[in-house]
Amino acid sequence: MTLPELKEVLVGAGFKPFNAIQIFNWIYKNNIYEPTLWTNVSKKVKEYLLANYDFDLPKVVWHGKSTDGTRKFLVAFKDQKTVECVAILAESGRMTLCVSSQVGCAIGCTFCHTGTMGLTRHLSAGEILGQFLATTKWVRENDDPEFKYTNVVFMGQGEPLHNYDNVKNATLNLLEDNGIAMGQRKVTLSTSGLVPQIEKLWDFPPVNIAISLHAAHNNVRTELMPINKAYDLERLFDAIRTIPLKAHRRITYEYILIKDLNDRQEDIDGLTKLLNIKESKINLIPFNEYPESRFKSPSKTKVKWFKDELLKRGYVTTVRVTKGDDILAACGQLKSMEDQLNLWS
Ligand code: SAH
Ligand code: SF4
Repeated sequence: MTLPELKEVLVGAGFKPFNAIQIFNWIYKNNIYEPTLWTNVSKKVKEYLLANYDFDLPKVVWHGKSTDGTRKFLVAFKDQKTVECVAILAESGRMTLCVSSQVGCAIGCTFCHTGTMGLTRHLSAGEILGQFLATTKWVRENDDPEFKYTNVVFMGQGEPLHNYDNVKNATLNLLEDNGIAMGQRKVTLSTSGLVPQIEKLWDFPPVNIAISLHAAHNNVRTELMPINKAYDLERLFDAIRTIPLKAHRRITYEYILIKDLNDRQEDIDGLTKLLNIKESKINLIPFNEYPESRFKSPSKTKVKWFKDELLKRGYVTTVRVTKGDDILAACGQLKSMEDQLNLWS
């Protein structure tokens, strides 16, 4: 629940709105998930909550730590469905949680492991936040008592805008002053381009927005992302123009570089036609190869050439560094490990 939702529930049950703030403090600031331990909350409130709500965190059923400090978690929910999430350590010391919003994904991008799984179900707001809370707790108890996320990106399994309300509520709690109190600029929502939901972003907390573009021409984009058949580049950019951008903020365009497919001169020309220099950032992602995929990653020289050409034209351009390769935590490698682990036998 968000703080206003919890206040409403409590007031409806005859309690006071400030009880909701106390509860948020216990859960999100003190990280005590057992209501019986909440010393300043009245017994009646606790009894009411315990009778009606669930306080369990999802379970971390597998954890791997890369030599570069990146961690991958397999997290299981009540119905034994699992998702993966990743804690990515940057040189700057930033610790970013790459969180999942769905079990699987319905969008079916042809380059993406998750896309080949199809959609199993949406995650609730609690299950999304549960990944944040459960993995923090796990690392603090098992490895690093000081562990803390500084950033969150919705770039794990799933299409966050396909699960709009739950992702919105989870985001509200990430930003809530009485809760996790993360800054708006520390949270990034990534979308494959669900046009009707992009047009609803005025109603979403003002976090960073990343668009998975991956191609500058419709025929290439449709080959990579079937969603481009429903919402082509023209419709996508009409929708993007409706996103309320705060001063000096830019939209990030994620662009997976795939060998001989979208790494050509005409792709650079196409990008310069599509993207406004002042309002765009380009994040190039060298394709992460995996055995079942027909796509290949371009050479390092090619990636550098592509980046330099965009920089020359004035675009803020970065290349995403691959992290956690040794624990299969890299982009697009978030697929169910259940079979390998034989978790439920
Ligand atoms: N569904 C949302 C967010 C999750 S995907 C979206 O598509 O934006 C997060 C990022 O991982 C996307 O930019 C996606 O394109 C990228 N990704 C998926 N498979 C990849 C692969 N094999 N190599 C590199 N990046 C990949
Ligand atoms: Fe879904 Fe994103 Fe993967 Fe596409 S890239 S299949 S939208 S998770």
